Amino acid sequence: MTDIKLYNTKTRKKEVFAPINADDVQMYVCGPTVYDRAHIGNARPVIVFDTLFRLLRHVYGEEHVTYVRNFTDVDDKINARAAESGRSIGEITEETTQWYLDDMAAVGALEPTHMPRATAYITQMITMIEELIAKGHAYEAAGHALFRVRSYKEYGALSGRSVDDMIAGARVEVAPYKEDPMDFVLWKPSSEDQPGWESPWGRGRPGWHIECSAMAYDLLGDRFDIHGGGNDLQFPHHENEIAQSTCAGHGFANYWMHNEMLQVEGKKMSKSLGNFFTVRDLLDQGVPGEVIRFVMLSTHYRKPMDWTEKKRVEAEKTLRKWYGQVEKADASRVSESVVAALADDLNTAQAITVLHGLSELNETQGLKGGLRFLGLLGDDIPSWVNATDMSAYETHMLEVRQAAMQTKDFSEVDRLKAAFIEAGLEVRMSKDGVELVPSAGFDAAKLEGLL
Ligand SMILES: [Zn+2]
Repeated sequence: MTDIKLYNTKTRKKEVFAPINADDVQMYVCGPTVYDRAHIGNARPVIVFDTLFRLLRHVYGEEHVTYVRNFTDVDDKINARAAESGRSIGEITEETTQWYLDDMAAVGALEPTHMPRATAYITQMITMIEELIAKGHAYEAAGHALFRVRSYKEYGALSGRSVDDMIAGARVEVAPYKEDPMDFVLWKPSSEDQPGWESPWGRGRPGWHIECSAMAYDLLGDRFDIHGGGNDLQFPHHENEIAQSTCAGHGFANYWMHNEMLQVEGKKMSKSLGNFFTVRDLLDQGVPGEVIRFVMLSTHYRKPMDWTEKKRVEAEKTLRKWYGQVEKADASRVSESVVAALADDLNTAQAITVLHGLSELNETQGLKGGLRFLGLLGDDIPSWVNATDMSAYETHMLEVRQAAMQTKDFSEVDRLKAAFIEAGLEVRMSKDGVELVPSAGFDAAKLEGLL
């Protein structure tokens, strides 16, 4: 059996992965809070851990891997969205959950084995909070239940920091009912107009962190293999998950994996910088899901990922070429070097390098198998590939432009450009060439007669 090596955040070492039970390898990944479309950065952990899920299924067998990813459907951001839109919480969470599933399917992510919703696990959360209070790790104050951070000596071990360091660097909420500013909310009171459930501490709702501990325990049991998520969740979310589960008398994850963050054109993505976009924005602009996935996989998950227009264009070109090559391959096989790359701490960048090599050798069966393995190819070649080949139009435009350079009469260039735009193409002209990119409203019929 292939040895999988994974970098474990907990030990800060690359380790050989040894599952608790090879017949049921278990993975938990923190999922989205459902109140809006997933932005492109949210897609990174989904694609990273989907690739790991595929690798685990390959090594241990499809039936022997359990993957849990939750939906946070109770949160103050959801309440705020409901209040400002005048719509019900249920409507918003249901719609956003479906958006998420659709968008992640578009980037090739398989559905996890279980996708629990937090609101379906309130009873389990209350039970766990009661255990924590009974053991002295939590307390009730002013309708809240709070976790007593200083009662857990190992707090901060995952990120390797002391409680005092963390307080200094974090925005901890100081509240009069807290024994210590570091203590975090397990349960909080709800007003009449807020969603709430009856509990030993009055009508209220859970804090964010407790849901993952309760759901992981319910679905995976006392101990499980891998816990994943973005780097930004390491503290406080993951430290809190560990503290809650351990202090409630359960074990937790053996291997912790964190993906680095995503930037756009070298800058942090933010609404104020105007470089913020969702997965759906890209799909609507005509960027295929396979291209999004390819760009994501071309950077190792522990390195910051830079989303650039240049990478997007290159990825589309490469995929077009590869799909063209494998279209006629009657069989596919997974090359050992693709598996070996992924087994080395999920080195997806290396796996793509292997595919480039297979493409050069025209090893179409290995290329096809590799594309499938990485989630870049399903049963059929994606329909966008054969939609319309732009190269003839691009060449034509280039020739017309060259002729115009000689005669200094650019009227034909302008006429052609206008016709391409009218057909829904984005016309990109540089000194190196011409590129025609179909946008959402592209109509191939309008290109007829232009050549
Ligand atoms: Zn979580």
